[in-house]
Amino acid sequence: MTIKIWQSYSCNNSSSYRLVARFADPNVARETATELAAFFSAHAKQMDVLTEDGDFPEENPAAAQDLAKQYGFSWNEVLSWGDEMLEGDEPSIGTEDKTLVVYHTYCGGFGEAIPAYLKARGAAEVEPEDRHPPTASVLFEAPASAALDEDLASMFSQIADRPEREVEPLKTPWETRWESYGRAAFFRDPKTVGMWFPIAPTDLPAFKAWLAEHGVQKASVRLCEYDDEKKFVAIAGAKCSACDGTLQYLDPRLHDIDSEQLACLGCGGMYDLTTFLNQPPKPVVAKKLVVAPKAKAKAKKAKAKAKPAAKAKAKAKPAAKAKAKAKPAAKVKAKAKAKAKVKAKAKAAPKAKPKKKR
Ligand SMILES: [Zn+2]
Repeated sequence: MTIKIWQSYSCNNSSSYRLVARFADPNVARETATELAAFFSAHAKQMDVLTEDGDFPEENPAAAQDLAKQYGFSWNEVLSWGDEMLEGDEPSIGTEDKTLVVYHTYCGGFGEAIPAYLKARGAAEVEPEDRHPPTASVLFEAPASAALDEDLASMFSQIADRPEREVEPLKTPWETRWESYGRAAFFRDPKTVGMWFPIAPTDLPAFKAWLAEHGVQKASVRLCEYDDEKKFVAIAGAKCSACDGTLQYLDPRLHDIDSEQLACLGCGGMYDLTTFLNQPPKPVVAKKLVVAPKAKAKAKKAKAKAKPAAKAKAKAKPAAKAKAKAKPAAKVKAKAKAKAKVKAKAKAAPKAKPKKKR
């Protein structure tokens, strides 16, 4: 009797595997996704036949051999995402623009051959396999819709009062096949909604259908834009440091501009988003405030005395004063952020579990 020891399949199933490939051409990304999905499906069928009696093959079956031959790579292990019954449980694949994502919650991983295939298919970059779930970064202008407001509020509330912003899993108003664990970041200003959240590629169509259902005409959806998490958090917490006014986010993905900016609805000041990312915010252009003549400020002060309601506004006006005021608050915020970061790091890799277990 021979006893074969395969890679450990007895893991606790609490990890996931994500492969991200960036292509130069969105069409090639899409075609590759279609081909890879067809391969996974054929491979699953062939593997299921071979593992029917509880055996595990020593070599990959025909579909995998053919793919390797066609693209000039070799298999260093038998591709599998379970001991048996792979059909119907194929890895989730999706593309947005030039990015292709492959995802599975099985603990075995994709090995070296799938990345080699993606490179042979023309991927400019294949990121090292990662155990975090894929994330969507979404920006859209919200139409007036009470139903949409309600859905957004219910999602946003899941990370409110949670500095680590972890969803366990994210409860979504659209149907999902896979549960998604991990961190999320949201913001909503007077015009734009920003959502950064874990999602399996398979569930993207349902998410987009939900957007369309609520009358969202144009949405920018990107996959695995890691920097957007930090950006969306910064936008959610951004206030005009000169007048404490509400800021409106303007992104090149939705607007005809070159860089990410924030405009103050109160004083018209413009900020570059980068100013909010790493340090206490400083207005880049706050023309109205900088050129405010002394006499005008004095007159305003006098006015404020007469009208108590206007007091708060007038107080915030002198730029220097406002800046000085804003600094300590921002420092505290930065400290809290750093703390949260350490906390998040200390936590184990986020879990991801398939909703339907075989
Ligand atoms: Zn302002």
